[in-house]
Amino acid sequence: MNVYLDNAASTRIDDRVLEAMMPYLKEFYGNPSSTHRQGKLLKVLIEDAREAVADFFGTKPKEIFFTSGGTESNNFAIKGLAFANGAGGHYVTSSTEHPAVLDTFVYLRKFGYDTEIIKPNSEGLITVEILEPHLKENTKLVSFMHANNETGAVNDIKSLSALCKSRGVAFHSDTVQSVGKTSVKPKELGIDFLTVSAHKIYGPKGVGILFIDENMKIDKYFHGGGQERNMRGGTENAAGIAGLKKSIEILKESMQEDIIHYGNLKNLFLKELENSFKDMYRINGSINNSLNNIVNVSFLPERIDVPSGMLPIMLDLRKVSVSGGSACSSGSVKPSGVLLELGVDEKTALASIRVSFGRYNTDEDVQTLVKALKEILIK
Ligand code: PLP
Repeated sequence: MNVYLDNAASTRIDDRVLEAMMPYLKEFYGNPSSTHRQGKLLKVLIEDAREAVADFFGTKPKEIFFTSGGTESNNFAIKGLAFANGAGGHYVTSSTEHPAVLDTFVYLRKFGYDTEIIKPNSEGLITVEILEPHLKENTKLVSFMHANNETGAVNDIKSLSALCKSRGVAFHSDTVQSVGKTSVKPKELGIDFLTVSAHKIYGPKGVGILFIDENMKIDKYFHGGGQERNMRGGTENAAGIAGLKKSIEILKESMQEDIIHYGNLKNLFLKELENSFKDMYRINGSINNSLNNIVNVSFLPERIDVPSGMLPIMLDLRKVSVSGGSACSSGSVKPSGVLLELGVDEKTALASIRVSFGRYNTDEDVQTLVKALKEILIK
């Protein structure tokens, strides 16, 4: 049996979610824009889902837009605001964001936008002190993720957005990793645009949410039919939306239980690391401000013999799935850009893994991982 400890990459769909989706794949296959009975039924589903999502996030239903996932929502918010403001304008993000934000910022430069990518501190966090000197008269948008996907470090979004508010700057946050792992209420956190992806919360792939505060004006992203209040053309993914609705309803009920469960697994893993690899490892990211479900650990090459860039593959051979935070491209294993930004040296970055816990993991899974690590590293 494979031990899956890569839940920050994607989660197993919850059986209850799958069940909620099935009627919309098998029986109610019509188009939500049709005026007949099937169409109307699907429209009702979509509006019910919008209400359930709005209720969970403490927003108005009309502020919720269904998208194809985290990548689209990030593109929609950033490009949508940039295009609504026209060429020029200053935009700020951080160097440890997901590529869906970083690449979008780089792309906008082609059209004359002044986009700035700033460096977080060694814990991977952006603070008010780091951000403040970068804000300009013409800054239009700041985009900082709530929790980092590689380290789990959690930014103090409330203080960052408050600074932006005081300068009249809009604030976007990619909360793909934090939803379901901590409280995410855009109105309380001062977020104008918020990105969510269903497949990180036991929902299906290819569906997500963009929250747009009702006072914000942005351009539509997909031009087409008038769906999503004419902001995102395209026939709605009814089954996906039904699944997302169920994932959110489950979170509403059992998120606290999930968080405690993740915390127990994380504590067990940290204890086992200390027992087996004392002085031979370091935890990357923030010790005090971190999600319960992610541990990013480097084994120190100066203290222990680590096969460079190979740990995830060697664990995979032992049927344990984790992430390396390193991208394998054209035959070469690259160190994680996020870890390098935190000041981790290349050799150590290549001796790192990201372990991310989920609802279905057990203590035994952690023990299996530690046993495999010992086999590989201590022999
Ligand atoms: N943002 C973060 C922080 C992520 O971790 C991910 C997924 O890995 C995404 C965005 C992209 O989400 P999606 O896979 O739904 O496009």
